Amino acid sequence: MVASSRPPQQSDNEIPFAPAQVARRLLNWYGSEGRVLPWRGTRDPYRVWLAEIMLQQTTVDAVIPYYERFLARFADVGALAAASIDEVLTLWAGLGYYARARNLHAAARQVVEQHGGFFPDSLEGLQGLPGVGRSTAGAILSIAFDRPAPILDGNVRRVLSRLFALQENPRSTAAEKKLWRWAEALTPADCPHDYAQAIMDLGATVCVPRQPQCIVCPLDVLCRARALGLEKQLPLPAARKKVPEIVQAALLWRDCSGRLRVCRRPYQGLLGGMWEFPTVEIADGDDPAQAIGRFLQESGVSGEPQEVGRLRHIYSHFCLDLRLFGLASSSAQTVAEGDECRWVDEEALALLPLHGAHKKALPYLRQVG
Ligand code: SF4
Repeated sequence: MVASSRPPQQSDNEIPFAPAQVARRLLNWYGSEGRVLPWRGTRDPYRVWLAEIMLQQTTVDAVIPYYERFLARFADVGALAAASIDEVLTLWAGLGYYARARNLHAAARQVVEQHGGFFPDSLEGLQGLPGVGRSTAGAILSIAFDRPAPILDGNVRRVLSRLFALQENPRSTAAEKKLWRWAEALTPADCPHDYAQAIMDLGATVCVPRQPQCIVCPLDVLCRARALGLEKQLPLPAARKKVPEIVQAALLWRDCSGRLRVCRRPYQGLLGGMWEFPTVEIADGDDPAQAIGRFLQESGVSGEPQEVGRLRHIYSHFCLDLRLFGLASSSAQTVAEGDECRWVDEEALALLPLHGAHKKALPYLRQVG
């Protein structure tokens, strides 16, 4: 609840205006105020899908250069499917949420192998692709195929929460059902292509999180949050969870030729398939220097690593405290190479998809060897 005396609410099923009014107002507004973006003006499902996957939990500004680089390298879904996962991860490096890159690659292969290189044109078919949920499928179906399908990304969720003055945790199951119902009811049969982009644009440029610009909003006369003076308080914030902290130690390890030891993370799990310097988890109460010493011992290597730095990196679900140790070996290394671990020179290192925390460690290499 926002206020102690709760204002009268619409019943869950009631839509307090003709749904067509929302579409008409949004489409008029979009005609003059819609954003110009590199993926606008195309109905190519490959381009629409690529943009929608990149935009999941990522801002437009961050996505644009990646979108352009991907298209320059992979002009169509066949080119993406034929690429190696390492190349895809390298191009994706820095955009975050790397499961998206792995899913992108897997979905491209699925489109080629199971759909003859054509994207499915149904919600079920699109949702069968890795990384495509209900909202992304709705966006692709609306934008690329001009079929009415509801979307509920972060921007739309905020607009609907305000438009209907949703005064409950918007992530609860009950709220989720209402939001989808409203999204469905408002999606017009005509021009779903423009409508989908219009409502996303409204959330991105007018109905923004902290300071909604109600005065220029095409939905202001319909908006319940505006009528109730709750536009800045809705949607209600989700309860904040305490972010756990994880401690790791990474070894910046040079051999006698100056090459660096790097390992690939398992494909399944966090940052799957990305590369990093050899890393050990530090359990509560354990000493990072001793943990790195044990790691070297188990690898049959002698040497005294020195701590060269420490950095923090924030992930969505935890905060990483990364302790950096340097070791320069004066003799040739006998530690095996293979698909998962290699010795690389700095030129080759620059071409590997190194994940963000370990990219931050690169300046510390100067202190090693
Ligand atoms: S009137 Fe204000 S709160 Fe309501 S949809 Fe428009 S910008 Fe959002």
